[in-house]
This record gives sequence, structure tokens and C-alpha cells, in this order.
Amino acid sequence: MVTAYRHEPLTDFTVDENKLAFMEALKQVNSQLGKKYPLIINGERVTSGAVIASYNPARKTELIGTVSAANKELAEEAMQAAYSAFSVWKKWPPEARAHLLLKAAAIIRKRKHEFSAYLVKEAGKPWKEADADTAEAIDFLEYYARQMLDLKDGVPVNSRDGENNRYTYIPLGVGVIISPFNFPLAIMAGTTVAAIVAGNTVLLKPSNNTPVVAAKFVEVMEEAGLPKGVLNFIPGSGAKIGDYLIDHPKTRFVSFTGSREVGCRIYDRAAKVHPGQVWLKRVIAEMGGKDTVVVDEDADLDLAAASIVYSGFGFSGQKCSAGSRAVVHEKIYEQVLEKAIALTKALTVGNPEEAETYMGPVIDQAAFNKIMSYIDIGKKEGRLVTGGEGDLEQGFFIQPTIIADVDEKARIMQEEIFGPVIAFCKAESFDHLLQIANNTEYGLTGAFISKSREHIERAQQEFHVGNLYINRTCTGAIVGYQPFGGFQMSGTDSKAGGPDYLLLHMQAKTISEAL
Ligand code: GLU
Repeated sequence: MVTAYRHEPLTDFTVDENKLAFMEALKQVNSQLGKKYPLIINGERVTSGAVIASYNPARKTELIGTVSAANKELAEEAMQAAYSAFSVWKKWPPEARAHLLLKAAAIIRKRKHEFSAYLVKEAGKPWKEADADTAEAIDFLEYYARQMLDLKDGVPVNSRDGENNRYTYIPLGVGVIISPFNFPLAIMAGTTVAAIVAGNTVLLKPSNNTPVVAAKFVEVMEEAGLPKGVLNFIPGSGAKIGDYLIDHPKTRFVSFTGSREVGCRIYDRAAKVHPGQVWLKRVIAEMGGKDTVVVDEDADLDLAAASIVYSGFGFSGQKCSAGSRAVVHEKIYEQVLEKAIALTKALTVGNPEEAETYMGPVIDQAAFNKIMSYIDIGKKEGRLVTGGEGDLEQGFFIQPTIIADVDEKARIMQEEIFGPVIAFCKAESFDHLLQIANNTEYGLTGAFISKSREHIERAQQEFHVGNLYINRTCTGAIVGYQPFGGFQMSGTDSKAGGPDYLLLHMQAKTISEAL
């Protein structure tokens, strides 16, 4: 028996002891920088000729580590390893698979600040964001372990006289896991272990921006006792090995988190049946968002401004859940805007290694360029009221930026920027607020700030997003509490951290025996 699931508490850094412990972890990680990490194929450490160098986005020349990059031949070896390990792993008792995850959770919990310190260094996450990322990784391990225990006997079905019917779930096969830079531990670990605990074997291709923390996680899974071949670690280029593995006839499913562009490409490629392939591939895709904080005319103005600012600028807006649009009733528009500007000006931007930093850098030069070009577009589409500047001297820093008075159809109101930029747009009525809220091709998260019960009820019905939040921020979903995933071009609505998630990695089998 295991205890009921509870989410991992977040660390209170106002407590001196916690602050000191975190500083100690940063010191320890700083002494480990520059190491080399091999691929792991069938439990063997493999060094390829090519490497991916991972740098600190806040200090561009600081090398976090180098990770071997797989080529097609090595990807093929990993596929063969995963394919043959599947025949053994799928027969492991579900309880044993679940307990392996619980052990991995315990190992990470013990080394929690160390993992978070890696996130600070490799992803540029401020302390709080890094701590939440590590806590979420622990949550995924704990939650999916319990989900597997719940599912292990299938679900009851009726039997008539003279028959015995059963309905069970069995694993799929080999999965390709492609994970993003923005939750380099939580989403990478969550998507990997959901597949594994369900009895599948995987090829993990983490983001090229954050492969070191992924390598550290794979070590934990080994330490927890995962048999060889179940989790193969194969960082590499999307063009070189990503496409190869998605097309591979032995790939049974792909679990992808990242941009809409790449997600749609994977969905398309995976649809094709290749020679030797005897199934239709499944794609689990968690893609972008253009998420809105909607402010009703009677809203608490301070709550509205805070919800806008913290939804938009947490981790420099690099969350698919980020509130990159504020749609505000015209009666209170100017007041909410003023308050949001004041809050934004008070944010500390800088090196995420410092405890006081609210917002660190963006992930790399390409992200910096893209975000800055959207700020230029925004300056033409609206009024720049705060921020707008970038600073490349030491890292990829962009000030938290608000562009006001933007038309509802403007590009910065429609296109995902994935950076610290919020567009403010005015609406004439409650209906107009909702109409703008629903006017994108995405449907991931949204927040509705209001005191009107009637409007809150209507927003629940009509605001078409996978995660709707009332009177709070639209980021920060907690595993097992707010299952996370979106509609429309935000993905396949695969709710990570939710009760249906493991089933996406399994297939149902009916057994009916005549007596
Ligand atoms: N689950 C995260 C949140 O609720 C966002 C995940 C993502 O950006 O992919 O904020």
C-alpha cells in the first residue's frame, strides 16, 4: 500500500536555513561544471564523435557540460535496445514498475536543491521557478506510480451467465520522448516515466538547450534500478535523429512537448505507415499557447494586475501557459494597466543565481532574436509602456515588456512569442471580453478575474481553454490537482498530471472466457 498522493511542498526561501542550503547546492553544482555526459544505450555508456555543448543562458560563455550527440546509427542501436527490452519490461509486475518510480522520487527529493541548482545554471531559472520544476518532477513520479497501481487490474466489466469477462490495459511498445527546455526536469521526467511505468520502453531526446539535467535524471533512474534498455538517452539534432525515429517502423508512439510548428510536423510524419510497420502510431503532443488573462469590469484591480504580471513574466514568459495577453474591460483598463506597469517596473531582472532575482534570461540567441523582433512588431501595433530593451552583454536578457492598446487581431495578440512580452487589449463588454479571449487558434490556459458569479459561470462554459483559472494566475498547474493540457493548436489535450494520462500510453484488451 502507498499513502494517498500529496504534491511536493515548495521551498520557502525566506527561511535562512533553506536559503543557505540552496546556496550550498549552487556551490556544489558550480564545482561540477564542464563535465562530459555520454549517451546511454542499452545501459552502456556510449561516446559519439559529436557533442552538444550546454551553456548558461545568463552567462553565455559558461559551459554547463557537454553531452554526446547521437547519429542515425546510434539512434538505430537505441531503437533495437528499446525494442528488445520491451519484451521483458512489459512483463514486470506493475507494482514493481510503480515502486521503481517511488524510489526515483525519493532519490530526487534527497538531492532536491542540487537538481534545482542545475536548472538555475542550465535553463536560467530563478530559484523559485527551479524549485517548482524539481517539485513537479517528484510529483510526476509519485502521481504516475499511483496511477499505475490504480490501473493494474484494469476496470470492471459485466459478465453474463457462462462467461468471465475482463478489461485490462497493456503497454504499447517503444516510445520516442522529445522534451522541451522550459521544464527541463519536470516535463522531461514526467513524459518519460509515464511511458515507462505503463510498461513501455523509451528513447529520450531532451532539448539541446538542457541535456545535462536530463543526463542527471537518467542516472537517478539507473540508481533506482531500471533495467538496461528501458530508458535510452539519446540527445541529438531533430533533423538528424528526430525525423529518423519518428518515421521508424518500430516506433509505437511519440510523446512530444514543444512548439506548434514541430508538433504539427511530428503529427504529420507519424501518420505515414512505413514498410514493416504493423500499427498506427500514437502521438501525444503538448504544443504552444496564446493565453489570456481576462479582467471583468468589477474585478479586484490589484489581483488583476498581479495575475497579469506574474502569469506573463514568470520564467521570462517561457511557458506555454504564460499569460501573454491581458484583455481588460474598458471601464478599468487604464487603472489595471497603470498597476501592471508599476508591478513590472518593480521586478528584479538579472542573474538567476542571486536569490532576489525574479526574472532571468531567455534561453538562447535564437529566442532572444525572435522575442526582440516581436517587440519591434509590438511597438508598431501598440504603445510600448514599459521594458522593450534587450541586453546581450553577459546573457540573453530581455526586460519585462508591456505593449498597450493593441488591436484584438494584432500579431502580438495572436502569435506565440514565448518571451516576457504582454499585450494589453481593451474590450467594451463582458461578451466582447470572452470573444477576444477565444479568438486565437490555441486553447491552452486562461484566467478570468471577476467578482460576478454570473460572469464566472458563463466564463466556465464559454472560455474555451484546457486549463481555466478563476481569480488567479494562468500558470503553475500542480500535478494531480490541475491536470494540464490544451485544446485546438495547443495539442492533443493530453492532460499531464491527470487521471487519464497513463492511458494514452496503453491499449485496452478485452478478455472473454466461456465457462
Ligand atoms: N504546467 C506548466 C504550468 O502550468 C506549463 C508547462 C509548459 O509550459 O509546458 O505553468
